[in-house]
Amino acid sequence: MRYSEMFLPTGREIPSDAELISHQLMIRAGMIRKLTGGIYSYLPFGYRAIRKVEQIIREEMDRAGAQEVFLPMVQPAELWQESGRWVHYGKELLRFRDRHEREYCLGPTHEEVITDLVRHEIKTYRQLPRNLYQIQTKFRDEIRPRFGVMRCREFGMKDAYSFDADEAGAEISYQKMFEAYKRIFTRCGLNFRPVEADSGAIGGSFSHEFMVIADSGEDAIVFCGACHYAANLEKAEVAKPDQPENTDPPLPIEEIHTPGVKTIEEVCAFLRVKPGEVVKTLIFSADGVAVAVLIRGDQEVNEVKVKNHLGCESLELAPDDLILAATGSPRGFAGAVGIKTRIIADYSLLGMTRCIMGANREDYHLRHVKPGRDFQVEAHADLRVIRETDPCPRCGGAIHLARSIEVGHVFKLGTKYSKAMKALYLDATGREQTMIMGCYGIGIGRTVAAAIEANHDSDGIVWPLPLAPYQVIITPVNVNEKSLSETANRIYDTLKDKGVEVILDDRDERAGVKFKDADLIGIPLRITVGPKKLAEGKVEIMSRRSKEVIDLPIDAVEAFVLSKISEGM
Ligand code: ATP
Ligand code: MG
Repeated sequence: MRYSEMFLPTGREIPSDAELISHQLMIRAGMIRKLTGGIYSYLPFGYRAIRKVEQIIREEMDRAGAQEVFLPMVQPAELWQESGRWVHYGKELLRFRDRHEREYCLGPTHEEVITDLVRHEIKTYRQLPRNLYQIQTKFRDEIRPRFGVMRCREFGMKDAYSFDADEAGAEISYQKMFEAYKRIFTRCGLNFRPVEADSGAIGGSFSHEFMVIADSGEDAIVFCGACHYAANLEKAEVAKPDQPENTDPPLPIEEIHTPGVKTIEEVCAFLRVKPGEVVKTLIFSADGVAVAVLIRGDQEVNEVKVKNHLGCESLELAPDDLILAATGSPRGFAGAVGIKTRIIADYSLLGMTRCIMGANREDYHLRHVKPGRDFQVEAHADLRVIRETDPCPRCGGAIHLARSIEVGHVFKLGTKYSKAMKALYLDATGREQTMIMGCYGIGIGRTVAAAIEANHDSDGIVWPLPLAPYQVIITPVNVNEKSLSETANRIYDTLKDKGVEVILDDRDERAGVKFKDADLIGIPLRITVGPKKLAEGKVEIMSRRSKEVIDLPIDAVEAFVLSKISEGM
């Protein structure tokens, strides 16, 4: 493509809401433009990167035996009522009515629609397994859309759904997708890790997220340096501690006046104790009912674990009125002694013989509280956030924490949807059985954004070759000089004939301006046609990533470019 004819509005300006470097660069490199909050248009340069990801995904999905479909984005409420998610999905589901007052939603995901399709068409075990996928626009009314297309409201997703006759088959389908995902993200040139994850709103029993390692990522992951264990921080298990030696003899409980002292830090400063001697009592509202969660003061509660332990639909820190009703005191003085709610405790309480906690009375704390003597807990469980100093829950080795961006997610759904929506088949003995499902998503725009987040420098994007909208840019330093322009055009025609994706920067601009744009848009190879080298029959080729420059005779350019492309740079 000739640069002078391209719709490629590059620039220096950064919108004030663009915090992430990938968001800034996607705007500056003329890839995306915001229409309204969380809703973006892709311009030609950006859309080429999207299509590259889609192409890799299609090839790997097809290779894994999945078949492409295209399902509607508008979905009737009845299907969501059948699955139970019309109520549970919450405000991310954009609902609306048609002229007949019938209710619909814009699909944030397609489990209901695909299950409906399959239950009507698949009747016997002979038609199983099947895996169907699509690349479709999703709409999720995210509470805080941000980071450009990384977390937006309207976005492209590849979603696949597998249907199997039994657990063993479902396991094979899951593994096939897992392997396909590894191939996809490897082919995209990304540094990624599959990690064990929580199943969230999609539900089901087991899942892995595919994480691109990036300091700016919204997610945190834990991985072991010694074994293969890797998990999302919210999922990462903390091993049950060996019961510590009980050395401190118990003492009678005492109430102490602690005026205005509420937080762990304030309690520690006031009583001159360490956080590990204090027990935090957090009052949560679990589906509207107060529950007390106890944890040692030097640890942090993991709300996902609490939610999974309680099996509730919604969990949030209790509002002031619920705290008052549950404890009889304002926020900051809750404790387990005498409280009327359910009490669950993190493993970190095991073995504590004396602790300090709120007295359920304004401005008072208790000391020398003995768990088991002064209060009873319903259960001890793993409810805390893992820390880098904790051992690996599998092998006891040292663990590491890293920030990451979730680009894909594979789920074992089991029978969650097939049971609720009666996706049944007849087995070999003629008995009716429920299909076992899996679902598998990849965010297309987020994958492109994550690639930029992980591949840029101070001058702009540094595309991994497989996602680069163009592979080569040819820059004649002065288009008004006939020899330069002619040579550049000749190389352009040759490379185009060989199927290379190439831009000819034929703009009548200063060389410095063109170089800046080429760096910003991140084309992997730049061929500079300048008077000095041309006098020797040569051009310069620069690698965008290493900034390394080599001189090459003009007739060697084609072979060099083709070999670089075939070796993936
Ligand atoms: P997150 O935890 O980031 O909200 P999710 O668990 O809701 O993600 P899934 O339902 O598993 O995401 O969706 C599959 C994939 O779709 C994700 O791995 C991600 O790549 C992409 N995705 C999800 N939400 C968004 C969004 N708001 N904007 C862009 N891509 C998204
Ligand atoms: Mg989400």
